[in-house]
Amino acid sequence: MKSKREQLDELNQYWKENCKCELKKTATQAVFGDGNGDTDIVFIGEAPGKKEDEGGKPFIGAAGKFLNEMLEGIGKKREDIYITNIVKYRPPNNRDPEPKEKEDCNEWLISELKIISPKLIVFLGRHSMTRFFPEELISNLHGKLLIKNIPELGCKQAFLPLYHPAAALYNGGMRETLIKDFNKIPKALEKISNKNTS
Ligand code: URA
Repeated sequence: MKSKREQLDELNQYWKENCKCELKKTATQAVFGDGNGDTDIVFIGEAPGKKEDEGGKPFIGAAGKFLNEMLEGIGKKREDIYITNIVKYRPPNNRDPEPKEKEDCNEWLISELKIISPKLIVFLGRHSMTRFFPEELISNLHGKLLIKNIPELGCKQAFLPLYHPAAALYNGGMRETLIKDFNKIPKALEKISNKNTS
């Protein structure tokens, strides 16, 4: 039986070749999900920025630094979690990813989630939240533990939507809210006693 790390490596090699996302043409490289495949928590961001496009890893710029600080605040390190993005290639000038770009990277994301099978998925911002909750607003759902049956994942899944660290970085009120919401992660994990969450 292959380890989750081996499965993720194979997955990334496959999609690096076969992903049809048009952003491939302008991005420096694909930015794969990063971290621990055997984790309970997966964070999903939006798309790589400039630093990530250059470095080939998600969340290594200013937003990533803020994220690392918040992780430390709950006694965790980057090596304890897995982090990935909805879209694996940087959109030009960090514009919002378009629906087609999200769709073209979707199978890659879903396969990552199936391999890891985390107890909790934490959304970083509205783009990742609306992938699973298309009708909802992040301003209504941030900080709330949600359970939803996701047919593509073949299970009931727990989610915690958070504001995006880049949006909250220099916005005092939003920053405070994000930190408060982020600190709910340990309790949320405790609540989800088993994978079925029923
Ligand atoms: N913002 C994101 O959503 N993802 C990254 O990888 C970096 C910044």
